[in-house]
Amino acid sequence: CPFDDAALHPIMRENIRLCGYEHPTAIQAYCLPAILQGVDVIACAQTGSGKTAAYLIPIISKLLGKVKKLAAWRPNAATFNPNDPNQQRARGEPLVLVVCPSRELAMQIFHEARRLCYRSMLRPCVAYGGAPSKQQRLELQKGCDVLIATPGRLCDFMDQPGILSLKRVKYTVIDEADEMLQADWEEGLKKMMAGGDANEDADHVFMMFSATFPKEARELARQYMSNEHIRI
Ligand code: AMP
Repeated sequence: CPFDDAALHPIMRENIRLCGYEHPTAIQAYCLPAILQGVDVIACAQTGSGKTAAYLIPIISKLLGKVKKLAAWRPNAATFNPNDPNQQRARGEPLVLVVCPSRELAMQIFHEARRLCYRSMLRPCVAYGGAPSKQQRLELQKGCDVLIATPGRLCDFMDQPGILSLKRVKYTVIDEADEMLQADWEEGLKKMMAGGDANEDADHVFMMFSATFPKEARELARQYMSNEHIRI
């Protein structure tokens, strides 16, 4: 059973226990080893299948192993002072970017990310439209390791200077890709997948989760994902 797998960080094993998850769902049993291995993943998954944890558990577990290094560069949420001119310039520089089509889904994923990041130094943030951006911006500036965002608000933040940089993103997850392509976010998605400004990381891992894989989704996958990806 992958939840007992020694490859998962002890903090993650404890957080899974606190979530009450005893056995991995089918999608988790497939995704965990693949993502821990570091390959790109394309998975066909419906809401309710446990797909959120299927990507968050292995990604966060891998980052937990590097948490000391992370602490060196990101601002400290506890001591962050928005009135300090030196700190006002702090930008959100997430390592994980999860893009999804709706505010409701973004909040659900954020909730799951908070539970899985418990007692770690990793800080999840959420950004979605239809709500004032000020508080979301402030949270990003306090330090953001895992960003869950809807495409509209994400593009807004990327287009304004000093709020968000995707140059450190190591994992990009496109959740409900078919919904986003239907809503005409193709150009926006390409921009995000390219990492906004030049992404420093050549080992950037892409994942795509979708209930269906129409032609546009397959093309997007072909363009950005390596040949090593695993199809589920
Ligand atoms: P999702 O498909 O990601 O929207 O997840 C659906 C629900 O299943 C969420 O409420 C999760 O908290 C829950 N869940 C995810 N993984 C497991 C698991 N291994 N065991 C029990 N519940 C789970």
